[in-house]
Amino acid sequence: MTFIEKTTDHRKLRRWEGNIEADYIYTSGLAGERFFTELRKNGRILATHCPRCDLTYLPPRMYCERCLAELRDWKEVPATGRVEAFTVARLDEEGHEAPEPQVWAFIKFPGIHGGFVHIVAAPEEKVKRGLEVRPRLKPQPLRTGEITDIEAFEPAEH
Ligand SMILES: [Zn+2]
Repeated sequence: MTFIEKTTDHRKLRRWEGNIEADYIYTSGLAGERFFTELRKNGRILATHCPRCDLTYLPPRMYCERCLAELRDWKEVPATGRVEAFTVARLDEEGHEAPEPQVWAFIKFPGIHGGFVHIVAAPEEKVKRGLEVRPRLKPQPLRTGEITDIEAFEPAEH
């Protein structure tokens, strides 16, 4: 079949093997820019607050998803969060057995709407819902303004 032929019987359609290069770059947006700059420079995790709805968003948003107000009130999240849910990854990105299991958790902070999915640096048998954790950051000179500036969340010591 060539391009000038017309097929009306779908059973006669053929296919061509090939690859299409499709690279995407997403910007982090205004709120993301401030969030990652603050994380890199000062090691602080910031959220935005809507005074009308009394909601604090993490990741920070520029507009409230409820009342659509522009959010200009930035605040640091509490030092300690909690594991809301978690899973254990035993395979690496390519599907091979990982050298050791990794615990991934959804972490929420008190009074904050939203949260993070991140690695918890603890043995899987010690991780449970409600476990208090705090972020372990890379040393400032090594930070690049990415979520991996947080190396992991660790169980909070009391
Ligand atoms: Zn609002």
